[in-house]
Amino acid sequence: MKTDSMARERMVDVQIARRGVRDPSVLAAMRSVPRERFVPSKVAEFAYEDSPLPIEAGQTISQPYIVAAMVEAAEIGAGDKVLEVGAGSGYAAAVVAQIAERVIAIERHEELASLARRRLAELGYDNVEVREGDGSVGVSEEAPFDAILVAAGGPSVPEALKHQLKIGGRLVIPIGEGGVQTLCKVVRSGPDQFEEERIGAVRFVPLIGEQGWQEDGRRSA
Ligand code: SAM
Repeated sequence: MKTDSMARERMVDVQIARRGVRDPSVLAAMRSVPRERFVPSKVAEFAYEDSPLPIEAGQTISQPYIVAAMVEAAEIGAGDKVLEVGAGSGYAAAVVAQIAERVIAIERHEELASLARRRLAELGYDNVEVREGDGSVGVSEEAPFDAILVAAGGPSVPEALKHQLKIGGRLVIPIGEGGVQTLCKVVRSGPDQFEEERIGAVRFVPLIGEQGWQEDGRRSA
């Protein structure tokens, strides 16, 4: 619909480019993915607002600016194979799929994984595979990845994810206790060498899993 594409253009100009996201491939991807198709119909009218929105299973679709900033930080290129942990609605996976060659997206809630799979198929994203499971341990059989994006906050950077990066690969993940986390970027500079950089403060739902948090809020072993 024309009004949705106009709202999307405005979202990219006002919420994303003006806040400093510069990568042309990220801006183009954000201009092309219909966010209203990834949210429940009762909140579709708010799809281009500057905020996260509630989705099924008590989870959220991230704020558009945060999606753009994370994708830019991950420096995704055209030939890349990317893992997204916390597929949720499938929206961020669609944004990444506009740029990368192949995307594996993993989600712990079966309901969300199947909805995301359906939405992505309806929109013709045939380079994304949505799996159900615990992404805190990555997807070892598909590793190594050029980039890994984690859309849920963990207590620390999961070792499994670091070791599923290619040399030169980038991992972007929110880390920390409580409601506010620090967005971290980890670059694998050698077989056992990792450079860590802090990007800024963010607010994400918890990463629940073997290398994240337990359901009761305690740190997993
Ligand atoms: N990227 C999503 C989007 O575009 O809609 C936003 C995802 S939401 C902020 C975070 C998601 O991470 C939730 O759907 C949650 O169920 C999922 N999640 C949390 N821990 C997970 C884990 N260990 N493995 C896979 N998914 C996980």
